[in-house]
Amino acid sequence: MYGWAGKRLRVNLSTGEILTEPLSYEYRRKWIGGRGFNSDVIYNEVPPGLDPFDPEARVCFGVGPVSGSAAPSTGRVTITCKSPLTGGFGDSNMGGHWGAELKYAGWDQIIIQGRAKNPVYLWIDDDNVELRDASHLWGKFPREADQMIKEELGDEDIHIVLIGPAGENMVRFACTFNDVWRAAGRTGTGGVIGSKNLKGIACRGSGTVKVADPRALLECSDRLRQAFKGDIMKEGLYEHGSLCLINVANRDGWFPWKNFQGGAHPNADNMSGETHSTTVLKHREGCYACPICCGRFTKIHDGKYAGEEFGGPEYEHAVPTGPRLGIIDDANDIWHNARLTNDYGLDGIETGGAIGAAMEWYEKGLITAKDTGGLELTWGNEEVVDKLIQMIGRREGFGDILADGADRAADKLGLPDEAHYYSITTRGMTLPGDDPRGLGFGYGLSFAVGTRGGCDHLRSLCCLELSGALYPGLNTKLLGDERANRPVTTVGKPYMVYYEENQKTTTDCLNVCCFTTHWSYAVTTPDQIEYLNAVTGLDFTEEEFQEVGERIFNLERSYWNRLMSGAREDTVPERFLKEPMPQGVEYQTNVGAVFPLNNLLKKYYEYRDWDPATGFPSEKKLNVLKLDYVAKDLAPLRSKYLSEPEKKKKKYYH
Ligand code: SF4
Repeated sequence: MYGWAGKRLRVNLSTGEILTEPLSYEYRRKWIGGRGFNSDVIYNEVPPGLDPFDPEARVCFGVGPVSGSAAPSTGRVTITCKSPLTGGFGDSNMGGHWGAELKYAGWDQIIIQGRAKNPVYLWIDDDNVELRDASHLWGKFPREADQMIKEELGDEDIHIVLIGPAGENMVRFACTFNDVWRAAGRTGTGGVIGSKNLKGIACRGSGTVKVADPRALLECSDRLRQAFKGDIMKEGLYEHGSLCLINVANRDGWFPWKNFQGGAHPNADNMSGETHSTTVLKHREGCYACPICCGRFTKIHDGKYAGEEFGGPEYEHAVPTGPRLGIIDDANDIWHNARLTNDYGLDGIETGGAIGAAMEWYEKGLITAKDTGGLELTWGNEEVVDKLIQMIGRREGFGDILADGADRAADKLGLPDEAHYYSITTRGMTLPGDDPRGLGFGYGLSFAVGTRGGCDHLRSLCCLELSGALYPGLNTKLLGDERANRPVTTVGKPYMVYYEENQKTTTDCLNVCCFTTHWSYAVTTPDQIEYLNAVTGLDFTEEEFQEVGERIFNLERSYWNRLMSGAREDTVPERFLKEPMPQGVEYQTNVGAVFPLNNLLKKYYEYRDWDPATGFPSEKKLNVLKLDYVAKDLAPLRSKYLSEPEKKKKKYYH
């Protein structure tokens, strides 16, 4: 066997049992790896009614057949669970080196189930796998615990997955890290890991990836690395990290000022990548085998946070806990907030979403300082944001309420329906810092139909509308219509979303970084298949590759359908449908835009072959995708979904 290790690890924390399970050829071909392996396990082993924090719930870590090889950026790992935030399907992926290390240790996937009596961490040293006491690590920030484990094991070169205090406290949007700073941010994977009393997974591998055709792999990888030289997206990401998008977002009006009340601000350049690079950038960092190296390392030099250092921030790290909360004048405040979410192990997007919603409730008079324990939740109040992030991480006071996410917080506080208008969520998860009235109608559509709620740049961002104009002819070649380049148009968008969702799904099965594929398009789908075949020695075609993507996407969609979430819930926050984009800066390009969801959904369902009444995949489609067992699961639910009286759309599912 080439590429895959051919086996996975199953660890039951309740019993201490550690099992090795083989992965058959048919299984590997059907699901490829990473996201595919994990989604299959979650669908089959985590029933829709199970509480995500129940010990019987699973959390999976998966890598792909090219992970750890010489192909570009093959160090990522996908983490999948039933999301404690949404109650639906949840996954997230992260860069770093841990994914490659897991492959070197001889594993394609880890499934964790059960709950340990006391805090533990898992130590994987090739085939030697053991659970070790983590009582002394409980409560530590990831950067502290990482160092302590390395000292304990006497090896600076191991790579470690860790959660922070937020995960231990089962914050519903706690994230998971590896290599200290690389985060799988979304859907609350860290909370599920914490609920199992698992602090982390240390990994050391002494093996290699067996490659079927090393010469073909090296030639392909060399050619692709050459393609990055001079690539415009690569240049921007290397020079300024994902913060390179700040000034673009401000110009095109998708900068989420004050919880998306606006789309641009005159002072946005204070926190731009260009400003960051010339003020607080300490050095750049890259993930395994990456030709781009977009990672930042920041050191604050002055002001009250002088001396703080941390990995990051990303655009989606800095924007939600900065301008989304009305903070823009002093960038050090924004860098500091990003450092705090890292240390506590919080998803920066959801943290900003929860605080942003609360600030808007406060502004609109839905809550007062009596509800918040005396905190004045006024826009731009950095002192309060600083406190609240820490209170969320520790589940203290008003932070404990927000730690369940904006929609649940609104219900816990007994607020009227109006409060949910300001939550800016789909299927219980908040949107990232990108306004679809500016970034694009394709992206907006992907928020409505995405298989993990609010989605984000690593999941459904239609890069063909973000960067298509940088690559003349690309949209014509891939989608048959160059006009789809324009963000604020419906032309070509339903097919673009269908196309990009499938590409991102297969990219997540290979566990390569989407910045090196569907952001820059220096690496296209045929290139991915070329290196996949060189590594595995198999003969994947573009058609088969695309079918695997569709299969996984439909499986994840069906998970939601089993929760009775379908067409009624395929929508975006009402603000985007009702409020025309206001003017924030003179040069803004999208003033007056509203998001036209209904014009897009019908056509999208046609491409997907989803029933327009229920939003469920058709039986025929599921059978074609070799998901006949899923078709059987959904059969009795189709009429049930239709016969339910038109009821309020559910905001979360457990
Ligand atoms: S582009 Fe950035 S996130 Fe992607 S692999 Fe490279 S360093 Fe990591």
